Amino acid sequence: MKNKQIAFGIDIGGTNTKMGIFDLEGKLLSFKTIPTAKIGDPALFIEQLAQESQQMLNSELEMKLGDKNIVGLGAGAPMANYFTGSIEHAPNLGWTNVPLKILFEKYFLCPSVIENDANLAAVGEKKWGSGKDLTDFVLITLGTGVGTGLILDGKLYRGFNALGAEGGHIIIPHEKKRLCSCGGMNHLESFLSAKGIKETISELTHEEWTIEKLGTLFRSGDLKATAIINQIATELATGLASMGVLFGPQAFIIGGGVSKLGDTFNQVVQKKLDEHIHFSLKGKIKILAATLSSDKGAIYGGAAHIFDEVSK
Ligand SMILES: [Zn+2]
Repeated sequence: MKNKQIAFGIDIGGTNTKMGIFDLEGKLLSFKTIPTAKIGDPALFIEQLAQESQQMLNSELEMKLGDKNIVGLGAGAPMANYFTGSIEHAPNLGWTNVPLKILFEKYFLCPSVIENDANLAAVGEKKWGSGKDLTDFVLITLGTGVGTGLILDGKLYRGFNALGAEGGHIIIPHEKKRLCSCGGMNHLESFLSAKGIKETISELTHEEWTIEKLGTLFRSGDLKATAIINQIATELATGLASMGVLFGPQAFIIGGGVSKLGDTFNQVVQKKLDEHIHFSLKGKIKILAATLSSDKGAIYGGAAHIFDEVSK
């Protein structure tokens, strides 16, 4: 009954938690978003997620938690550590020393893996998305923050103690000084997070634009919007040029909510990357769009990760 096997992909975010049920081919069978409970005992929240997932199983698949066809679950959360199975400290969630893997296995009655969300998105793109035929790439998620997931030699690379692969916090040279959410100065995230982009819009126009408005105006040829896109594409390309020379990837895959700026934005990033990167790599690293849904990348990756893990 191999074709009946399913897995959960879960993404615990600072505001909402997304849950999906997937089959082996990466088809999303059921999806739900619920607010993340940041107050109170995290164990109660995981128990609540298990109850929600039971409802999803009932209505879509006539299955119960504990069913042998449930392969497991892969969950992403800020600062989630694959090796320890815990979150040591996640300021966005207000969680400290949460044994997340143990809690998931207790309430969901199946094996689990936990990762940071960008790592999961990279695993998802490798199994079912734009990275399917690649061995070396960097997945960049541009959203509330800037996350990176590295696939090197076909495998997810986390660094010692899973403390690496945090390309959002590399320092980029800039005439301005801008504080990063982590407390550092002039990190890629300070300029390329949704908040960072909005700050740049406000500096250059003295107006408040949404990212969607920026994208629409840019595509219609608006000069101010073009200037903003050129600036943020240069900032991103500067960060990518550093990562590129270190890892020599085949591609950078761009995902996350801000990636809705679209292919025309990616083309500008490609041009700026080729201007800024070391001569040996010019024209050799592609900028690709993530193909899994821009706001559901981590849940696809969660399911992909547990399917891979149990088939090892
Ligand atoms: Zn930072």
